[in-house]
Amino acid sequence: MKIGIPLETRPGETRVASTPDVVKKLVGKGLEVLIESGAGVRAGYPDSEYEQSGAQLTDRAGAYDVDLLLKVRRPDSADVEAMRAGGIYMGLLESCGEDDVVPAMLTKGLRVLALERMPRTSRAQSMDVLSSQSNLGGYRATLEAATRYGRFFPMMMTSAGSAKPARVVVLGAGVAGLQAIATARRLGADVYAYDVRPETREQILSLGAKPIDLDLGESGAGEGGYAKELSDEAKARQQAALSEELAKAHVIITTALIPCRPAPVLVTEEVVQRMRPGSVIVDLAAISGGNCPLTVADEVVERHGVTIVGLTNYPALVPADASAFYARNLLNLIEIMIASGDSGPELKDLEADEITAAMLMRPAG
Ligand code: NAD
Repeated sequence: MKIGIPLETRPGETRVASTPDVVKKLVGKGLEVLIESGAGVRAGYPDSEYEQSGAQLTDRAGAYDVDLLLKVRRPDSADVEAMRAGGIYMGLLESCGEDDVVPAMLTKGLRVLALERMPRTSRAQSMDVLSSQSNLGGYRATLEAATRYGRFFPMMMTSAGSAKPARVVVLGAGVAGLQAIATARRLGADVYAYDVRPETREQILSLGAKPIDLDLGESGAGEGGYAKELSDEAKARQQAALSEELAKAHVIITTALIPCRPAPVLVTEEVVQRMRPGSVIVDLAAISGGNCPLTVADEVVERHGVTIVGLTNYPALVPADASAFYARNLLNLIEIMIASGDSGPELKDLEADEITAAMLMRPAG
């Protein structure tokens, strides 16, 4: 069974779907690994390390002509063309079914495993790339905020005077938000946090941050651990109730997302106008429209004296570890997909396991 790892070609992408450590484990299971020359270089993994781990270096066409293709970013039509009919695609699709790429893959007879459809169960946790990448994203985004803020995060007492700790507000206390809270706390900031799901209150407290309590008159807890969209009345109540806390913040890190819906607006222009000049907003929801309407995706802008960071790919700024976590997630997934047969590893029935069955894309209708 051949596994292919191509170079990621989306602009700004530095990650790679597998690392030399993981390749060694795959080869140890009797799998043949073909990697496009240079695929790991931007993540700090040279070709020579993959070769030492037992992979074969190949060109682009060779990496695609495989039974199981491992990708990080969403495929484009050239990728689909290069894939072997009947093979398996494993990667993120970054869509909610509104594009032509998945139908083209299905028409070609590919089996498509969408990593964003990973069930949120204990068994699936070690295979969940959304979690591992959000975790890194929350960490890296907090460092982005700290370096762009013109003051200290911690309280500083020096012979030249003292500085108060930064007041940081984290909106959305999911995987990225909790890591942002933890990182800002480690840097010594005074951290406040809010999430629409009530169960996050305990988690916020356990990280040493102060929960912001709002009474919206309805719960934002949705299915499968995700949030659901609030009614228009509750959205308006939420914005108004948050505005006092947000206007006092020196740094706001926003991570609030609802799957396949526009990100909720939590930081209004009026709040930005009231923030102290030199404050920073890091909007991790920029790719879904932003939690602040002034955010510009993939740009850093200044509005009303406030720096608003709209970067959309924080894991790519920590590519060695992001790739290592991603690769281990995929290894854990591959391990439940194969069995050792008489003539080497054999693919199990993907419909028979609840995890792979949930991830398999099916034709619409
Ligand atoms: P996400 O990226 O979809 O959303 C980020 C956060 O934004 C969520 O906590 C959500 O509640 C919050 N949010 C949405 N709308 C909001 C609003 N209007 N105001 C404030 N906050 C809002 O979520 P995520 O980080 O991927 O995960 C959410 C939960 O799922 C977490 O509790 C996480 O622990 C859990 N999870 C479990 C597993 C597993 O068990 N395998 C895997 C991943 C995540």
